[in-house]
Amino acid sequence: MALRFFNTYSRALEEFAPRDPPNISMYTCGPTVYSNAHIGNFRAYIFEDLLQRHLETRGFKVHRVMNITDVDDKTIRGARETKISLNDFTEPFKRAFFEDLETLRIKRANEYPGATEPRYLARMIEMIAELIKRDLAYQAEDKSVYFRINKFPEYGRLAHLNLDELRPTGRVRSDEYEKENIGDFALWKAWDEEDGDVGWDSPWGRGRPGWHIECSAMSTTLLGDQLDIHCGGVDNIFPHHEAEIAQSEGVTGKKFVRYWMHCAHLLVDNQKMSKSLGNFYTLRDLTARGYSGREVRYALLRVHYRVPLNFTFDGMEESRQALTRIDEWLERLREISTTISSEAPGAPMPNAGFQQALDDDLNISGALGVLFESIRETNRAMDANELGAIAAKAWLQWWDEVNRALALDAVETIVLPPEIETLAEARRLARLAKGWQKSDELRLELNARGWEVRDTKDGQKITRRVGPEP
Ligand code: AMP
Ligand code: ZN
Repeated sequence: MALRFFNTYSRALEEFAPRDPPNISMYTCGPTVYSNAHIGNFRAYIFEDLLQRHLETRGFKVHRVMNITDVDDKTIRGARETKISLNDFTEPFKRAFFEDLETLRIKRANEYPGATEPRYLARMIEMIAELIKRDLAYQAEDKSVYFRINKFPEYGRLAHLNLDELRPTGRVRSDEYEKENIGDFALWKAWDEEDGDVGWDSPWGRGRPGWHIECSAMSTTLLGDQLDIHCGGVDNIFPHHEAEIAQSEGVTGKKFVRYWMHCAHLLVDNQKMSKSLGNFYTLRDLTARGYSGREVRYALLRVHYRVPLNFTFDGMEESRQALTRIDEWLERLREISTTISSEAPGAPMPNAGFQQALDDDLNISGALGVLFESIRETNRAMDANELGAIAAKAWLQWWDEVNRALALDAVETIVLPPEIETLAEARRLARLAKGWQKSDELRLELNARGWEVRDTKDGQKITRRVGPEP
């Protein structure tokens, strides 16, 4: 079966035909760096990672861009409240984000443009000027510049919304009266006192860009006027991606994106996991409870991206068990692969079912079904001494292929919290200086904080002790 994906734009499964195979341009909306990302955000990034990895398994060359939103209401508010510059405020969250990506084994994008970089600001200003020239945007009395949605007939196509439905509901904020139409969105926000020293000069006065134009500017600068794939969570569809289409196509006159792909939300008690509801876990919350990045990755990966996924600790335990099954299976295969054992003619052999399932709109449940069915069958064959070294090697090779998409092998990188890192480093130095008593004291200190230390020939290994909540 050919590769096919569900396109939000057409609401249909479509055969995948990129513009310039094997090259693929892919844009993924990234984090707003005003706090640490939660695992709901990471569900979206892991879905995008699976997509990229599967495309690469199928021979495509993916050029992926993920933006970093480092200026918006929330980042400005955070900087103001902590009385530091916008850049100093966002920097630690950016750093944490990249660490988390690593813990979750998410492949790095080719580029991570930041909205406040001069070349993108210049592009935003250029695009806004062009939209005004084409009568698609206007400066209102409040000095902000808005997109005129009435002049863009396709507005609402992606979200399948009727413009008439965009009537104001409830009380209209006083600043909304400045606009010609309640649905018009800001391209450039005029400076106000709340913005403090954050602002850039533009032909429309001092101000800052709207969030939507940031993505249009960064994506078209780095990937050209037309992209193959654009992803995000379903909450991005409207207004964010709808606005991106209006702005980009309004400027270039060309179809902006071929395939729009959106993942369903990660839920907690059937509500979206979000900062505003306060029902969220960060990756660090989970690693502090003893879960590894690999376990969290599995938990977020195992359900089809278009199906809402309810986060539970039972689900975390199931993920741990699933990974243990894989690890034990691989261990057995590795053992057999080095022996001289006879091959039984009926031993199960790998097939292409795993990749074929992913070809079908990233059907991960189907793909994992193939994996666990294979594990069951080969375990049975190994129990019966029917699987020899040749078959074991073939299965190990199969796993390597499968794991290109999954990235779930057992090598674990754990990020230690800074205070544990400091204790571990002190213990390493104590041992170098043969300070055994000091080293033992530090071990006890680490134990007391819930960490285990093992001394191996490669040095000390630190793992989180799994147990009740700290
Ligand atoms: P934000 O920082 O809110 O712009 O979100 C970054 C990305 O995470 C976007 O692609 C969102 O659609 C996505 N996202 C936010 N919350 C969730 C959630 N609970 N489940 C899945 N994706 C989410
Ligand atoms: Zn975006």
